[in-house]
Amino acid sequence: MSKDTVQDGVVVSMDYKLVVDGEVLDSSDDAGPLQFLVGYGNVIPGLEKEMIGMKIGDSKDVVVSPEDGYGEFDDEAFMDVPRSEFPADLQIEEGAELHVTDEDGNQQMAFVESFDDKTVHLDFNHPLAGAELHFSVKVVGLREPTSEELDHGHVHEEGHHH
Ligand code: ZN
Repeated sequence: MSKDTVQDGVVVSMDYKLVVDGEVLDSSDDAGPLQFLVGYGNVIPGLEKEMIGMKIGDSKDVVVSPEDGYGEFDDEAFMDVPRSEFPADLQIEEGAELHVTDEDGNQQMAFVESFDDKTVHLDFNHPLAGAELHFSVKVVGLREPTSEELDHGHVHEEGHHH
């Protein structure tokens, strides 16, 4: 099987820029190309499916709708939690990201929208929920994953194992 195009089971390196509402939110200018293993949910599905078949050197602009990105904004995805349910030494700040365990034991990510001494008002929407995502991507490398990377379903950057 040839591995000279973006396809499941290949590690892609890409230069990218993410623009939302005309503002650059993220780009590879700072951290260098992003590497990811295709087909394992490592990047949002709306971007990955548009990259399938690209070759090294190919560039593409991809617009991802909220439903293929970080979801629609959900007015119901808010919850008031008594301050006493959090560890007393936990620093709570507006905008802070918390991991909350629900009644079924599932971990969920939430953001502190507001709080006072008694109550913490949590927002379970992703910060980019409801946003149309404008990606500019350029494939700069393709390689086979190591067997360990395939086992884990993600890329192991040099010196950074998890
Ligand atoms: Zn790993």
